[in-house]
Amino acid sequence: MTIQHPSFGELADDRIIIFDTTLRDGEQSPGFSMNLEEKLRLAEAIAELGADVIEAGFPIASPGDFESVRAIAETVRGPVICGLARSAPGDILRAAEAIRPAERGRIHTFISTSPLHMKYKLRMEPDAVLEAVTASVTLARNHASDVEWSAEDGSRTEPDFLCRCVEAAIAAGATTINIPDTVGYALPEDLFRIFTMLRERVPGADQVVFSAHNHNDLGLAVANTVAALRAGVRQVECTINGIGERAGNAALEEIVMTLRTRPDALPHTTQVTSERILRTSRLLATITGFDVQPNKAIVGRNAFAHESGIHQDGMLKNARTYEIMTPESVGWNNSNLVMGKHSGRAAFRDKLRALGYGELGDNALNDAFRRFKELADRKKLVYDEDIMALVDDEVLRGHDRIRFVSLEVWSGSKGPARAVLEIECDGRVLGAEAHGDGPVDATFNAIRAAFPHEAKLVLFSVGAITEGTDAQAKTTVRLEEDGKMVDGQGSDTDTIVASARAYLHALNKLMVKRLRREPAALSA
Ligand code: MN
Repeated sequence: MTIQHPSFGELADDRIIIFDTTLRDGEQSPGFSMNLEEKLRLAEAIAELGADVIEAGFPIASPGDFESVRAIAETVRGPVICGLARSAPGDILRAAEAIRPAERGRIHTFISTSPLHMKYKLRMEPDAVLEAVTASVTLARNHASDVEWSAEDGSRTEPDFLCRCVEAAIAAGATTINIPDTVGYALPEDLFRIFTMLRERVPGADQVVFSAHNHNDLGLAVANTVAALRAGVRQVECTINGIGERAGNAALEEIVMTLRTRPDALPHTTQVTSERILRTSRLLATITGFDVQPNKAIVGRNAFAHESGIHQDGMLKNARTYEIMTPESVGWNNSNLVMGKHSGRAAFRDKLRALGYGELGDNALNDAFRRFKELADRKKLVYDEDIMALVDDEVLRGHDRIRFVSLEVWSGSKGPARAVLEIECDGRVLGAEAHGDGPVDATFNAIRAAFPHEAKLVLFSVGAITEGTDAQAKTTVRLEEDGKMVDGQGSDTDTIVASARAYLHALNKLMVKRLRREPAALSA
């Protein structure tokens, strides 16, 4: 039977709803917090990718979370914008207020239903939980036509009780029913059994969308999601690069490409433009400072690299011998050598459009073009990756309080290194000079002298964006303050300048983080 959905109308039988929770479950994981500008930029990219629902945050958790959900609801068009809420009325009203400006908004409310969670986390009797389900969904429906209800720790919930909770949620007006494997414990057959049971036993089940939300603690998140699809689930919750609590969530790119590669076994369609997958994955990595591992499916550097002679021979004769999907279908392209110092502004603008930066304003474009010219002077061949690093750097740093101005460093084998640094803080130029054990240490000491702070450096790493000795360095700096960790990234052909930029980026993020309250304890 066809489902009439409040946000999507009549749902075609093969249509799968992609629910992206990169900005909520993903952002909740240590080191992945983002500021408002970063969240908006990522939300736009996820909308362009073609996600159907964006879970933008957890509005009650902090004023910052509320503001970002509200801002995404105001500006991002296309997907349904969703806010998360526990079952308390205050949570639901706050979520309702945050999503109100959205074209189409959704309230997602949840409560734990497993014996372990009810007894120790909620300290509630099952009957009280059941009443809370009815009350919370009823209240949410008074504020939104599109309401999702989740049974937290659903995969470890006693089957009869799960059926009663789902029945109560549907009766109160929930339009999507999500059964999360919150702790990443389930096997594929467990999820197949749970969803089959709910669809067979619960009255009204044929009129709602069932949804899966799987965690990757045992590396089974995507396999579990596929099993859920086979049991009739119509919505999958996932994140870019599989980021999320602990070992992360099911990866959007892996689910989408599984559906696209195996229509014989999984006859479903999504609205995702797969060619934008790599671009979106890279943007998230740039914003958070965490690259995916080289062997990561779909978006890892080695995902389409064929190293062994036998494989290469086969590939040359016919690519299908060892390739189940093309690199181009997820956004990798072969000819990514782009431009040099003679390339003009129009060519640069065209290139940015092709790379997905169509929305770049005049000021950002001018700044990016100036930095491109400087780079092209120093580096013979400028690749797509170079331009993406540079533009992301420029766009993302646009609202930073502390900005890099200049740096000179003297170092070598004859004595302590010396750094002379200039930075701009809230419009004022600050200078400092410092010595150190090597050029990076001297530079970081100069930053601490110009802008005194207590944060501790806990990680420093350097990588190259492309190949060759003139490649741009990409550095990551992790700072810790009061148990909070942030990662900053910087890129430049000069490794020490890249290091200074990364350190300042981390400092900027730390200042944003100080303004945020600790998020309330939650999961889902
Ligand atoms: Mn989760």
